[in-house]
Amino acid sequence: MTHNTDRNLSLFERARAVIPGGVNSPVRAFKAVGGTPRFIERAQGAYMWDANGQRYIDYIGSWGPMILGHGHPAVLEAVQKAAVDGLSFGAPTEREVELAEAILELVPSMDMVRLVSSGTEAGMSAIRLARGATGRSKILKFEGCYHGHADALLVKAGSGLATFGNATSAGVPPEVVQHTLVLEYNNVVQLEEAFALHGKDIACLMMEPIAGNMNFVRASVEFTRRCRELCTQYGALLVYDEVMTGFRVALGGAQSLYAAQIPGFAPDITVMGKVIGGGMPLAAFGGRRDIMEQLAPMGAVYQAGTLSGNPVATACGLATLREIRRPGFYEALGSRTRSLASGLQAAAAEASVPLCADSEGGMFGFFLLPELPQNYAEVMRTDGQRFNRLFHGLLDRGVYIAPALYEAGFVSAAHQSEDIAATLAAAREVFQSL
Ligand SMILES: *Cc1c(COP(=O)(O)O)cnc(C)c1O
Repeated sequence: MTHNTDRNLSLFERARAVIPGGVNSPVRAFKAVGGTPRFIERAQGAYMWDANGQRYIDYIGSWGPMILGHGHPAVLEAVQKAAVDGLSFGAPTEREVELAEAILELVPSMDMVRLVSSGTEAGMSAIRLARGATGRSKILKFEGCYHGHADALLVKAGSGLATFGNATSAGVPPEVVQHTLVLEYNNVVQLEEAFALHGKDIACLMMEPIAGNMNFVRASVEFTRRCRELCTQYGALLVYDEVMTGFRVALGGAQSLYAAQIPGFAPDITVMGKVIGGGMPLAAFGGRRDIMEQLAPMGAVYQAGTLSGNPVATACGLATLREIRRPGFYEALGSRTRSLASGLQAAAAEASVPLCADSEGGMFGFFLLPELPQNYAEVMRTDGQRFNRLFHGLLDRGVYIAPALYEAGFVSAAHQSEDIAATLAAAREVFQSL
């Protein structure tokens, strides 16, 4: 589709002249899969339409926020009403209190919460808070987990446990990442070694409880248990990055799933974003009261934001939370998502394509691998060329999945069983040609 009536292509050419790479966030550029990014004109329910008028079943959902689907009437009404009352005040509002109360009610590990505008900002602030609260510098993260693009987090593993991370981005001085230790996800032995070596200097261990930025990889229950125990033993804070999983995999976030399996389990700080804004720029971090009270203006850890707790964003978030709290919401979403995951597996098996899939709530992952991977290195064993053919085959058939093999997928409440069936029919055709 590179003829001159392709508006996606002409828009991409215009975009590239004025925006680096033509996009405002790298993964949108289709660099990994090749081809022309689709410029989206509008979306409704489970569908998006591009600049050529082509319709797609949307499994990206703005990378997670659109759990109700696009254009949910109650959400739109709340946003429109809030906009009329004022776009931003730089002064407190009742809606911020309401949203904070709603979040705390749903996530019992959090006693207090602060609202910000992006997941990156929330993650960066959580680390500053953890460092301020513990008086320690070192942070521990896992390879393949993404916590936003703060300098100290753009790190890959060094060689061995004694060496700290290497920056993965230009513009990050080595001094800035010298306190970041990167370990392998789900590796209990390495985790124990790292705490034995550095435990007394670690301010926090930050993790995605179900990693959604290396496709979809669950932390094992045993690994989760050891993360919690070691943090407690060494006085480090456990920071759960639920920007993607919060209100996505369950009403209480991924932590509620682990708490059901590990008695007394709770993180010390939780980072949220995506679904809590319902599509508007809104994110949050919160946790134990004694920790949260160290934030300015109460405490010595500085953190601020001109648009934090924005009145239109909080209206959008509150309206979204109201819908997802309805009885049966996650049961229906979870069963629809499971039917997609199991359907993909069955369709691939018919064509003798190795594929395994997993899902939780409205989040799923599938891999062109014979077994579910447990860490980043295993995820990256996927045949990239094969994935790219699958991606474009689906896109040509009106099914829009993430344009990279290391991203999770999302089903919304607007996806109907006919949409899943149409997706599986498209997948069956593409698998035949893989
Ligand atoms: C998306 C994401 C972030 C970053 O959020 P932004 O709003 O894009 O800054 C952080 N952590 C996780 C787990 C995410 O999925």
